[in-house]
Amino acid sequence: MSDLRISFEFFPPKTEQGREKLYDTREQLQAFNPEFFSLTYGAGGTTRDTTANIVTGLRRDGISIAPHLSFGGDNEETVLGLLERYKEAGVDRIVALRGDIPSGMGSVAQLVYANELVAFIRRHTGDHFHLEVAAYPEIHPEAESYDDDIRFLKGKFEAGASSALTQYFYNPDAYFYFLDQCEKAGIDAPIYPGIMPITNFANLARFSRNCGAEIPRWLKYRMESFRDPEDVKKLGLEIVTDLCETLLDGGAPGLHFYTMNSVDPTASILKALDLKQEA
Ligand code: FAD
Repeated sequence: MSDLRISFEFFPPKTEQGREKLYDTREQLQAFNPEFFSLTYGAGGTTRDTTANIVTGLRRDGISIAPHLSFGGDNEETVLGLLERYKEAGVDRIVALRGDIPSGMGSVAQLVYANELVAFIRRHTGDHFHLEVAAYPEIHPEAESYDDDIRFLKGKFEAGASSALTQYFYNPDAYFYFLDQCEKAGIDAPIYPGIMPITNFANLARFSRNCGAEIPRWLKYRMESFRDPEDVKKLGLEIVTDLCETLLDGGAPGLHFYTMNSVDPTASILKALDLKQEA
């Protein structure tokens, strides 16, 4: 797996204990030689300071870390200030997003499409940052049509994005078909599949309903039939390892893991994959 690009995503913890867990997870996942880690940005910019503080702190330790960024409820000046801070700290990659508006913030926040954020970053910082954008093999839940969503993804690349990370999915055909459609639309930048390990099925099902990721019916029924959480983890490991293997065999350029700030779910998949590839 040495030539493949591996990256790990975290979210900003709310407590000191959570922060320690994040640092510990980061350190342990370093063993898999990731190209970078990334840290999400709370919907509406709600974690602006926490995200920036953790990112600049990790940069001081020499870690390759990409902050996620959206306009949220902020104005251009605030976003420029953040970009400047990241540049000074030696950050060289950003995950640029439109984001969502959290409930209760509707009147202060206004959504800025990701292509506009990408153009804004390029306008003010030139080629300094490698810009990742989001892509949706099962199509963004608000998209008017399949073709529109691909067209808007293309717009993000035309605005200056470098590569894309996908929403997670459990059906590899959705990813491969999406890649074909992107290629037909003239997108030639790499699109890295996002991988969500399965640990707690009820949480995953709830989250998936909100973000439009589909859980195959057979998998839902199988998972819901388990009484022992260990059975869920065991089948989850098997399913997601097979998914990664299929993606890599089919030519995916790497894997981006949604770690949920835990070592084991992601590390077990990578170890199992490595064993399979050696066999
Ligand atoms: P966009 O690319 O702007 O697209 C949003 C919708 O609008 C789509 O339906 C698209 O078809 C349409 N559209 C796009 N451009 C235009 C346009 N110019 N005119 C009209 N319609 C348009 N959320 C967070 O809050 N914080 C995070 O840190 C975060 N990290 C993420 C990381 C990854 C890898 C992924 C896949 C998602 C992440 N999200 C995060 C979720 C993301 O913010 C939501 O899915 C959001 O609804 C869309 O963001 P986007 O950048 O894909 O938006």
